Order: sequence, then C-alpha cells, then structure tokens
Amino acid sequence: MLSIENLSKVYQNGTHAVGGLDLSVEPGAIVAIVGASGCGKSSLLRIIAGLELASSGVVKIDGIPLDGPHDRIGVVFQEPRLLPWLTVKQNVGFGLAHLPREERLYRAELALLLVGLSNKANAWPRELSGGQAQRVAIARALVSRPDVLLLDEPFSALDAFTRADLQRHLLEIWRGSESQPTMIVVTHDLDEAVALADRIIVMRPDPGRIIAELPVNLARPRH
Ligand code: ADP
Ligand code: ADP
Repeated sequence: MLSIENLSKVYQNGTHAVGGLDLSVEPGAIVAIVGASGCGKSSLLRIIAGLELASSGVVKIDGIPLDGPHDRIGVVFQEPRLLPWLTVKQNVGFGLAHLPREERLYRAELALLLVGLSNKANAWPRELSGGQAQRVAIARALVSRPDVLLLDEPFSALDAFTRADLQRHLLEIWRGSESQPTMIVVTHDLDEAVALADRIIVMRPDPGRIIAELPVNLARPRH
C-alpha cells in the first residue's frame, strides 16, 4: 500500500505547489492524476519518487516512510532520457550497478522481453523510434521490480497512433510483470486516463490538491 499523508510543497519562490494532500493507493491499482497545467501533478510525482523534498508530510510504502530515491519506485518521464553512449541493454541495466554484471545483463534482458524489445538489446538509443525509446524507459523503470511505477505524461510527446499503441502496450506490460506494480500516471489527456486507470483523481492548483475522484468502469476486463 502506497500512502501519502498531509503532503505539502512550497518552493523557495513561495509557490504553494501541493497543499496538504492525502492519497492511499491499493497494491496493483492503476491511478491516473489529471488536472490543468500547474496544479502540482509533477511536483507530487517527483516527491513520491524522492527526486524532490516535501515541505511537510510523508510518503510511505507498507507503512515505511521513504526518504530519497528508492528502488521500490520506478519513474518514467515524458522524454525517455536514455544515455546515448550506452546500448539499450546497458541503459536498462544501468540502475543495477550493485549487482554482478551477469545478473545485471540478465535482468535487463528480461525487462526488454517484457516490453517486446529483445531484438533491440544491442542497438543504440539513436536507432530507436520515439515509441521504442519510451518502451526502453519503461523497461529501465521496471528492471528493479518496483512496487510502484510513476509515469509523468509518459506518452504526450508521441504521435496519436503511437500513443494509443503504447497505452495498450503499457497494460500488457503491467499484466506481464511478475507482480503487477501500483501505477500512478500523470496525464492531461482524459481519454488516456480512462483507457488506463481504475481510479481517476482530479487536482486543482493554488495550492495543488485533490478536488474529485471520477468513477471508472471497474468491470472493464484487465486480466
Ligand atoms: P503540473 O505538473 O500540474 O503542471 P507542477 O507540479 O509542475 O504542476 O507545478 C505546480 C506549481 O509549482 C506551478 O505553479 C509551477 O509553476 C510551480 N513549480 C514547479 N516546479 C517549481 C520549481 N522548481 N520552483 C518553483 N516553482 C515551481
Ligand atoms: P517534466 O517536465 O516531465 O516533469 P522535468 O524536466 O521538469 O520533467 O524534470 C522532472 C524532475 O526530474 C526534476 O526534478 C529533474 O531534476 C529530474 N531530472 C531531470 N533529468 C533527470 C535525469 N536524467 N534522471 C533523473 N532525474 C532527472
């Protein structure tokens, strides 16, 4: 269980990006967070990821507070952010530096199999399409088998066809994972939220807070 308790973020310039936000997400749930630009979605995600400090409040997994980046949490950004001087497989295994080389490459291969890109393991990032590069970013986020996968506008930079493709693909990847991670997807695209999520949470700015949760058709087959 991921729980966010009374989370606030005030930036140094005084912007109150998140104000006293509470959210609990059941293991394996897929939650979409929607809301106008500037309502604090990215700030919230970066704090959960440990990339940004909260001003107050706490983020816990199974009751244990997280401080700083953590391998129980994987993150996918809008751009793939692959390292151009490493192959696809090396990029995916990059975060596993604590493991022996063999184990690292084996896990990277498994993650690439999961996203359907085994045939690109030895390719360079510049040789990939935008959609393929984003699938590599998903593999990199999943390689440490995180409990929680955070995605910040993951498909917004892609054309409409690739976007629809990857939305479908993300659910296949999620189903195919050894244990389905909790997913939190920030998006400004309501159709994307409906396509992906069990729960849709709406935020409002000044300060960033949850104002509503939209009902989603829970009968939609997922397994
Ligand atoms: P969203 O992802 O919903 O667009 P953000 O979390 O990016 O919202 O931003 C929330 C508010 O915080 C906005 O007013 C934004 O300008 C401000 N903000 C975001 N990052 C910073 C920062 N590093 N320093 C100051 N203000 C910031
Ligand atoms: P977005 O606009 O998609 O929210 P940003 O470029 O604003 O993304 O960056 C989001 C956060 O990720 C920032 O806190 C930034 O410091 C951090 N970040 C930027 N580049 C990287 C990277 N290569 N690896 C990890 N974190 C990064």
